[in-house]
Amino acid sequence: MFALKMFCQWSCISQCSLLWTCVFISAALRTLAIPSNEVNLLDSRTVMGDLGWIAYPKNGWEEIGEVDENYAPIHTYQVCKVMEHNQNNWLQTNWILNEGAQRVFVELKFTLRDCNSLPGGLGTCKETFNMYYFESDDEEGRNVRESQYTKIDTIAADESFTELDLGDRVMKLNTEVRDVGPLSKKGFYLAFQDVGACIALVSVRVYYKKCPSVIKNLSLFPDTITGADSSQLLEVAGTCVNNSVAEELPRMHCSAEGEWLVPIGKCMCQPGYEEINGTCQVCKAGFFRSSPQSSGCNKCPPHSYTNVEASTSCECEDSYFKRDSDPSSMACTKPPSAPRNAISNVNETSVFLEWMAPAETGGRKDVTYNIVCKKCTSDSQLCEECGSHVRYIPQQMSLRNTSVMVADLLAHTNYTFEVEAINGVTTLASLPRQFVSLNVTTNQAAPSPISFVKKGKTAKNSISVSWQEPDRPNGIILEYEIKYFEKDQETSYTIIKSKETEITADGLKPASVYVFQIRARTAAGYGDFSRRFEFETSPYLAASSDQSQVPIIAVSITVGVILLAVVTGFLLSGRRCGYSKAKQDPEEEKMHFHNGHIKLPGIRTYIDPHTYEDPNQAVHEFAKEIDASCITIERVIGAGEFGEVCSGRLKLPGKREIPVAIKTLKAGYTEKQRRDFLGEASIMGQFDHPNIIHLEGVVTKSKPVMIVTEYMENGSLDTFLKKNDGQFTVIQLVGMLRGIASGMRYLSDMGYVHRDLAARNILVNSNLVCKVSDFGLSRVLEDDPEAAYTTRGGKIPIRWTAPEAIAFRKFTSASDVWSYGIVMWEVMSYGERPYWEMSNQDVIKAVEEGYRLPGPMDCPAALYQLMMDCWQKDRNSRPKFEEIVSLLDKLIRNPSSLKTLINASNRVSNLLVEHGTMETSVYRSVGEWLEAIKMGRYTELFIESGYTSVEAVAQMTLDDLRRVGVNLAGHQKKIINSIQEMRVQMMNGTVPV
Ligand code: AMP
Repeated sequence: MFALKMFCQWSCISQCSLLWTCVFISAALRTLAIPSNEVNLLDSRTVMGDLGWIAYPKNGWEEIGEVDENYAPIHTYQVCKVMEHNQNNWLQTNWILNEGAQRVFVELKFTLRDCNSLPGGLGTCKETFNMYYFESDDEEGRNVRESQYTKIDTIAADESFTELDLGDRVMKLNTEVRDVGPLSKKGFYLAFQDVGACIALVSVRVYYKKCPSVIKNLSLFPDTITGADSSQLLEVAGTCVNNSVAEELPRMHCSAEGEWLVPIGKCMCQPGYEEINGTCQVCKAGFFRSSPQSSGCNKCPPHSYTNVEASTSCECEDSYFKRDSDPSSMACTKPPSAPRNAISNVNETSVFLEWMAPAETGGRKDVTYNIVCKKCTSDSQLCEECGSHVRYIPQQMSLRNTSVMVADLLAHTNYTFEVEAINGVTTLASLPRQFVSLNVTTNQAAPSPISFVKKGKTAKNSISVSWQEPDRPNGIILEYEIKYFEKDQETSYTIIKSKETEITADGLKPASVYVFQIRARTAAGYGDFSRRFEFETSPYLAASSDQSQVPIIAVSITVGVILLAVVTGFLLSGRRCGYSKAKQDPEEEKMHFHNGHIKLPGIRTYIDPHTYEDPNQAVHEFAKEIDASCITIERVIGAGEFGEVCSGRLKLPGKREIPVAIKTLKAGYTEKQRRDFLGEASIMGQFDHPNIIHLEGVVTKSKPVMIVTEYMENGSLDTFLKKNDGQFTVIQLVGMLRGIASGMRYLSDMGYVHRDLAARNILVNSNLVCKVSDFGLSRVLEDDPEAAYTTRGGKIPIRWTAPEAIAFRKFTSASDVWSYGIVMWEVMSYGERPYWEMSNQDVIKAVEEGYRLPGPMDCPAALYQLMMDCWQKDRNSRPKFEEIVSLLDKLIRNPSSLKTLINASNRVSNLLVEHGTMETSVYRSVGEWLEAIKMGRYTELFIESGYTSVEAVAQMTLDDLRRVGVNLAGHQKKIINSIQEMRVQMMNGTVPV
């Protein structure tokens, strides 16, 4: 009672100010929002009704029931028994549900009287109180014994107050916060124990902390109550929201302070949506997003569309396609069109095919090519698959490059090659195959080497050997040639010819080893010799049985030379089959030496139509008469000397319709004109070669008189090149040159000299195959606008013609080779005019003085060298067409050989460079001599064979040359000529020996 009185007294003096202050504080505090990461379990300031707390003893803590200015109750508990001993006053809260929090905070606001300011109470007055808690799962435990409580802390005031403070209206309100945990039951009671202080407990707030629900990186993290421990981080998994997805759910960590820390992973907008300002927005129609990883909604790529929102892909427009493996951003694509400008180069039984990439790649980079090979009957009507014996280099299918070599074909056979272009969507498109086709006829080819030779009966003077036909005979084997010699005595050998596949070599030494080599011959000539097979004769004592079993022709080398002379004599007689031969250079009909052995001349020979008394007979001998009704003329494509040149179609009974060129003889012609006009057909009709313009026939029985030839889509080569300046690869240009050379080889083999070989007289078809055209004898000089009159009265195309032909009308295949060199120059310079605007007179003079055309721009050195060889002053030193073809084949097979371009000094600005022929004949060594005559490549062979001095060389014969290994006829000739010159000079004493 006293205490109360005391308090009342004190409170009488001070209560009003105390309460006023409390009201003020409470009102101020009520308006304060609590932080978003705190959740109140109890706040005495906000409880509107009775707090329901229990004080014991009853006279300890007492509630001062006051209201604030809003009439809300202010629950303040006071105790002030400072004058009495042994105080133990408890104030127990009601049961507080902890809502699952394992750690709660208690925030106390209180005032505490300074003991010093109390008159007389000093002995018993305290300045602290204690706070306890007791956990329970329900409200039942109201009567908790003191000992059951767990102490939280002793609470002291930071600030206590004195009466003086009250007088100044300054109230010192303390705020203390303590945390309690870990809690494990549903709820708890708090208790405040006073042991003799003067306290006013103004408010008690109990709360826990949480990490408030948040959306981060498109994932939702829910409200999360912090952990039991003050340093604990709780890992929380988020959930993807708003059309987003994640491979692995993102996570974040909730700290004890209710803060989100350490985010891991993120959600991303699902396909068809894109993230804009932290939310997923749908892709509009016409846009798509294919995967959560792609950047955003993208416009449908070319040739695709989508008409709906939220598209994850776009659909291809009609006739456009996409592979599953194509990136989603890639345009829809098409199969490629057919490859273009396919050309073929036939080398015996190999064909080199080259083409240009299709004009339309379908928008893809994965274009490859497949080759289909068909073997056809001669009229190309019936074809069958080529079969597996054919080799494709590098391969038949899925070629990335635009060329292939097809080898091991049959000789003299028609083939059709289809080069098909394929890309990644070809199989999806089910369109017709896109290919370019080429008809090719293989040449004759020598048989392949014999691979197997067996020893038969052996005696002391003889050995029988037998062998098998070569794997690829490439024709009917006419005979075998067997060369044998005693081992290490190669210079003296014997040659036997046999139609059988076995022979007996006799006259051998006993107990000696002999080397045998065999080769086969067909109409195409000899194949290579087999490898060396060594067999030994029996010793002296062995029983003799060396009679030859098989009829043989043994021919020694000397006999071979006699035979050569006989055959040459026969050819020089110049008449065959009752017709006189054309007036050709006799040198062209000489025997050729091939690989050191006699090669018989071609069976067919060109016959000059002038030799017929009745020119009409010649035409009908060589050209088919066509009924005019089979021809449809379509349009005029050019002007010839005798009339217009038209294109049209020819449909012969039982044959396919084909495009043709038709030359007409204009009305009012003279008989001579008619004869000359048809003369060309009589010449053309004798030729059958893929690089010679093919004559279909003539119309002579009705008017107009016509010559019908195959149609060459690209017209004449000079115009074609000028039109396509710089458009072709070097290989394509070389391919064209190879074709022309091959046609010229055929003509020269037939004994025909063209005399007007120039790019304007070459025609080009759609496959870039070049064919020699413009045949005739007298007219060649009349109808060519390039032909000019020479001092001797003839008309000659000066710039294309060899000096000896200009000077004394010496037209030969060698002068055609000169012209061929000029054609090479025209081709490599894309139709440039030889010697530009120089006058014909200046050209003649310059060439005579040793000047030659400079190399065209970007011309491979090997090709310019060949041109220069064709322009050798000495016509015998020029290469033969045969050699030109094989050199060009080599270059085509090994395209890297074309990489070296002529250097600038060979292209001297103006025009012409001196053609260095070494006139000086003072040679210090064999090497120097060979270099001087441009045969340096043989130096090693000469030295190895013992020809180490100029003197030794001067004694050499043709046989010696062959033995050394000089096999090319042209080279043999060149070296022999030089040796002869050397001998003369030695006799004259001009060469020191
Ligand atoms: P020509 O009288 O042989 O010089 O022919 C005159 C022109 O007609 C040539 O320059 C070509 O443009 C053209 N021409 C001649 N023959 C053919 C052919 N077979 N195919 C296509 N065009 C040709």
